Amino acid sequence: MYIVVGGGVVGLFSAVYLAREGADVVLVDSAPGGWSKAAAGVLEPTKFEINRINVRGYPVRYIKMWLKGKARIARLDWRWILTYIKVYGREYPEEIWNQVKELARFSISEYRRLAEEKNDFEFREEPLYEVVEDIEAEVAALKQDPLKPRFDVGEVKGRRAIVYLDSVVISTDLAVERLYREVASRGVRIVNKKASRVEEGRVVLEDGEILKGDGVIVAAGWWARRLGVPVAPLKGYGFRLVARWSGPTVADFIGGVFLVPFKGWIKATGRFDLDASPDHSPSRKVLAAAKTWLGDFEVMDMAVGYRPCAPDGLPVIERRGGVVVATGGCRLGWTLGPGIAHAAVQLLLGRSATALTTARFSAGKRLAAALKH
Ligand SMILES: Cc1cc2nc3c(=O)[nH]c(=O)nc-3n(C[C@H](O)[C@H](O)[C@H](O)COP(=O)(O)OP(=O)(O)OC[C@H]3O[C@@H](n4cnc5c(N)ncnc54)[C@H](O)[C@@H]3O)c2cc1C
Repeated sequence: MYIVVGGGVVGLFSAVYLAREGADVVLVDSAPGGWSKAAAGVLEPTKFEINRINVRGYPVRYIKMWLKGKARIARLDWRWILTYIKVYGREYPEEIWNQVKELARFSISEYRRLAEEKNDFEFREEPLYEVVEDIEAEVAALKQDPLKPRFDVGEVKGRRAIVYLDSVVISTDLAVERLYREVASRGVRIVNKKASRVEEGRVVLEDGEILKGDGVIVAAGWWARRLGVPVAPLKGYGFRLVARWSGPTVADFIGGVFLVPFKGWIKATGRFDLDASPDHSPSRKVLAAAKTWLGDFEVMDMAVGYRPCAPDGLPVIERRGGVVVATGGCRLGWTLGPGIAHAAVQLLLGRSATALTTARFSAGKRLAAALKH
């Protein structure tokens, strides 16, 4: 029997892939899908720039956002910050980017396959319009992006925008429901509790119950920091709104909102707050930014998510004996999620390795050796 701790996009796909191998699987999460559901559902397989939080100049940009009230810092994790300082400005070799490209390629092909079976999660391949402060600077940054995105410069509702040509959109609300059905139909047992500890071959639940298994995948987002993985919670909010909107999918980085139209609602998401507190008041600013595009609307519901971000924005997929940790999707967790889950399962079953381990946080000299394992 295998145990998956965490039922976000990575945990749900991990459970599906393990069950597909014919294994008995238990998925542990008090509210599966809850955090992942907050996401906009814009899949950007050819763009990594959004996750590059360790490029030179990013901390100044983030502090400026904080000063303007566009970001909130409510939690400082010194271990994460020290690791951030270590990897600040660090460039990775081709091999790392090839692995990220492969995670994205695998993920998109999985969503496409699921949609071909039944498109009950509004999978659409269509351009994304991104409104940014400085188009020329963004174009220059994109030319350096290791995943080499295809883009044009265009216009949306009278505003200049970068148009990403290889984007995909899915409804994360509907995708979570679909994945839930997938795991249920494969006989995965869901335990609606939180794990309090993970050890070799066993998971201790919050009420003291102990689950024993042949292997464990920890896909619990930023909770993986409890296992010593440097991931911080970058909180954001996802609203489902009923409004009139005839435009395309828009990412407004000036106002601070993503707008994704679906058949029954518009998904409006935003904020990138270093914050795990129960105070969700900054969510109001997402609604205010949405109003500038949509005018009046009705709120259907809101979900809160905590993007699990490693200091370099790259995923962590690492084996420690019979435990595999799979996290670090950051802003691209849905874009890379199926790929991260698949790599985690392969690693657990001893079939293949990955270079995306925490060894990269070691001092620069040891990096090359670490990448070669
Ligand atoms: C507002 C917002 C917009 C986003 N937009 C996009 C987007 O457009 N495209 C994109 O690709 N990505 C997007 N993301 C990022 C994406 O949602 C995340 O990277 C992704 O959800 C990470 O998935 P995960 O499964 O690793 O972790 P999470 O989604 O964080 O899921 C972790 C799960 O583990 C569970 N858990 C935590 N602790 C425990 C425990 N102790 N025991 C058991 N279970 C536990 C939680 O309940 C949760 O269900 C967005 C995120 C946010 C917040």
